[in-house]
Amino acid sequence: MRETSPGDRSLFQRDSTLIQRDSSLIQRDKGLLWHPYAPLDGTPPYAVHAANGTRLSLTSADGTAFGAVDAMSSWWSAIHGYRNPALDAALLEQAGRFSHVMFGGLTHEPAVRLAEQLRDMSGLEHVFFADSGSVSVEVALKLAVQYQLGCGRPGRNRFLALRGGYHGDTFAAMGVCDPVDGMHSAFPANIAEQLFLPRPPAAQLTDGVLRADPEAVAHWIASLEETVHNNSDELAAIIVEPIVQGAGGMHMYAPECLTAARRVADEHGLLLIVDEIATGFGRTGKLFASQWAPVVPDIMCVGKALTGGYLTLAAMLCSAQVAKVVTNSPLRALLHGPTFMANPLACAVASASMGLLAEDNWQQQVAAIEQGLATALAPATALPCVREVRVLGAIGVVELHEPVDVPAVTATALEHGVWVRPFRNLIYTMPPFISTAGDIATIGAGICAAAAQVHG
Ligand SMILES: *Cc1c(COP(=O)(O)O)cnc(C)c1O
Repeated sequence: MRETSPGDRSLFQRDSTLIQRDSSLIQRDKGLLWHPYAPLDGTPPYAVHAANGTRLSLTSADGTAFGAVDAMSSWWSAIHGYRNPALDAALLEQAGRFSHVMFGGLTHEPAVRLAEQLRDMSGLEHVFFADSGSVSVEVALKLAVQYQLGCGRPGRNRFLALRGGYHGDTFAAMGVCDPVDGMHSAFPANIAEQLFLPRPPAAQLTDGVLRADPEAVAHWIASLEETVHNNSDELAAIIVEPIVQGAGGMHMYAPECLTAARRVADEHGLLLIVDEIATGFGRTGKLFASQWAPVVPDIMCVGKALTGGYLTLAAMLCSAQVAKVVTNSPLRALLHGPTFMANPLACAVASASMGLLAEDNWQQQVAAIEQGLATALAPATALPCVREVRVLGAIGVVELHEPVDVPAVTATALEHGVWVRPFRNLIYTMPPFISTAGDIATIGAGICAAAAQVHG
């Protein structure tokens, strides 16, 4: 929405000089900075002037100011909204003590407290802090290989992953992303070849239950059993995004597939790694998406919403049994150790973010968002350009028949007061949990209008 509405004025008021300055930022950015997956001379970004609660104040390259509801939670991380008082306070308090110390040979309150919280939330006993989601996946893969070594099975060093998956952008993480849609083809000599199963069959939410075609599920489970049976002497672990595949296509699948992955992993001595970086901390309506199935993983990765979107931090959690094997092996240590491991500022704000989840009513918030999105996105099903609309927890997806015209849809949604960042043929939202019913209605209306105006 162009910034003329009285509601936005008090938070984000700007005179023309400030707007001018923001649009000149975009000029200075041009050709200097790379943006994610974009060429240096790509579509100009919008400049952020302020962010508060669920609102972003933006300026476009041509000097237009927009106030928008953030439908993206800054890539699914800002679950408690911007300038959250509890998170701001935790960060400032820790900055007043110390911002960083090395974790080699030293420890500190924010790291220990956060690790205890994560242990209690996940039921997994041990914690390794990494600086980003991709790095936590690297560490999970390393741990699985070290575990198999510790079990006396050095030949077991490959991974079974899912088509349509996304696990990050570093080389080993890329290796378990979808081999076609991922970036494998650009780096054939750098990416180890892994094994893949088809995408698990799609599931729809009906009356609070995720249901899929039982025949398709049985067929998928048979291919899982066969693949693992034929390759178990090479495989260290199965790695999946539980229930929702995010950046690989916002695909929701049947919990029975996760249950089967656990069973088959156990039958063949493989570990089960669940990548909860996108799905963890309530996003799907469960605290962890793996809880949609009666499954306890051996290893879990968390990131994104861990710090409420304030700072970069991820964690790899594992069971006592896995840790014990590695600790009793000749190597003893887990062979990884980032410079900024367990950064105190990031841990302090993450600990406060976990505290908000413990106190807050995230379950009611996510349930209300789920209902609100189902209503607000329903009109999209009638559009000729739309193939499917799906909602699970605080995730709403409008899938088109054709690739989204990203600059046009982004600009049109902004005219309707909504910030979205579509990809491929998907216009989707993962709003902050603090979004009001009005915010959700605005997001739904903005997405429907943008899809209709740009794609018909
Ligand atoms: C975002 C994401 C990652 C990578 O996290 P980064 O912090 O971007 O490195 C890994 N796995 C999943 C499921 C993700 O959504």
